[in-house]
Amino acid sequence: MSYTTVVGLEVHVQLATQSKLFCRCSTQFGAEPNTQTCPVCIGMPGSLPVMNREAYQLALKTSVAINCEIPAFTKWDRKQYFYPDLPKGYQISQFDLPMSEHGWLEISDPKDRFEPKRVRILRAHLEDDAGKSVHDEVHGRADSEIDLNRTGTPLLEIVSEPDMRSAAEAKAYMQELRLLLTHIGVSDCNMQEGSMRCDANVNLHIDTPDGKAATPIVEIKNMNSFRAVERAIEYEAGRQYRVWQETKQQMGDVPKQTRGWDDAAGKTLGQRSKEESSDYRYFPDPDLVPVLSTPEEVEAVRASLGDLPADIRRQLADDHGLSSYDADVLVNQGREVLAYFFNAAEKSGDYKAACNWVTQDIQRVLKEQEQSIDEFSISADQLADLISAIGDNRLPKSRSKDAFELMLTNEIDVAAAIEKLGIEQVDESALVTLCQELLDANPKIVADVKGGKQQAIGALIGQAKKKNSNVDPGQVRKMCLELVEKM
Ligand code: ZN
Ligand code: MN
Repeated sequence: MSYTTVVGLEVHVQLATQSKLFCRCSTQFGAEPNTQTCPVCIGMPGSLPVMNREAYQLALKTSVAINCEIPAFTKWDRKQYFYPDLPKGYQISQFDLPMSEHGWLEISDPKDRFEPKRVRILRAHLEDDAGKSVHDEVHGRADSEIDLNRTGTPLLEIVSEPDMRSAAEAKAYMQELRLLLTHIGVSDCNMQEGSMRCDANVNLHIDTPDGKAATPIVEIKNMNSFRAVERAIEYEAGRQYRVWQETKQQMGDVPKQTRGWDDAAGKTLGQRSKEESSDYRYFPDPDLVPVLSTPEEVEAVRASLGDLPADIRRQLADDHGLSSYDADVLVNQGREVLAYFFNAAEKSGDYKAACNWVTQDIQRVLKEQEQSIDEFSISADQLADLISAIGDNRLPKSRSKDAFELMLTNEIDVAAAIEKLGIEQVDESALVTLCQELLDANPKIVADVKGGKQQAIGALIGQAKKKNSNVDPGQVRKMCLELVEKM
């Protein structure tokens, strides 16, 4: 018997506004508890919310980037909860008329573990966040305290269709979403700080001798890393299959269940039966006016987006010959590194070399020095000069790392680095003479090469370097092979 894992994700993203969704309190993370609150966000009677236009613009930008349709009219609804950290007693959300719907996000795996696919997005809507309950953490006491700084922070909830078929696809979706959202600058998507949170709806479609069966849907909460999303879904699929084998329990009579992910234990644990939407007693918020958007506004947002990560990946692979793996690594370095890369690649004309320098040597230095690319002492123009110097043989490839290190430590350009390394250019005729001498002195090697053993040339490279330390091993090899052909 075999089964398919079916996954849909609900992702909450904190939008990068300075102030909250319906008041002017700061959204700065990490402030003293309860110092960023006001009558509006803690729901004092008589206070009135006013929508933060910037939050709506960021939500609109995101919705367009995930290919959603934007209805001309959207409104706000109250979703009633009782939570200790939700003093209003309700969340301001969007129920039946969300600000965007019917989008999609393409996912693929640079290592080809699954086929590229479009994950459909059901809807994305704006809502305000609750506060935080802090349990047993304060002064070692066994009690709970409430921090309301987060109350009222703008969240965009992005709900996918159940289009993913494995934990790996779900993780890829999360990663692609984070890449896209950080690229367009609408959120920092910092999962540790809770700026990006994920709930997964998981069930199994099982082939049985008499047709198909499906297990009850379980919503997994409380996953705060990509790894957790992947592990939780894998665990839950296995658990559901075991339960199904024992009970043959199917969908229909069973309400959706909520389970929490315990990362340390590596398990999901039962929490409660999932509420139906009627339990929330949604109704339109009488304090807020609906929001209208015109097609012109939406088009202006679309035009402002520029190339998105998926477009850039495609250009790098199709127009500039990079492997899809390299293109993916580059795009994931972030906007600033990408801009640096494009400068160096365009100026030198060698995208592959620029990619190698940026994703290998430069990334290593940035990590070691804990620097951002803006603080990096070799400019994109200087990197382009380095690449060009190697390309036109002013700098042997074998000495290029030394030149790079000199440029870095002495803050000099490539010409100065070449001089400091004492490299004198070996011109073509000198190289021919040198190689011909070596071949004449080593008839056995010539015979071996003629007999098909090209690697025999290797023995001449060391000798060539002894005679002239400026020669490039790659060029010696190439020149010797060319000369043997003519002998
Ligand atoms: Zn406030
Ligand atoms: Mn929500």
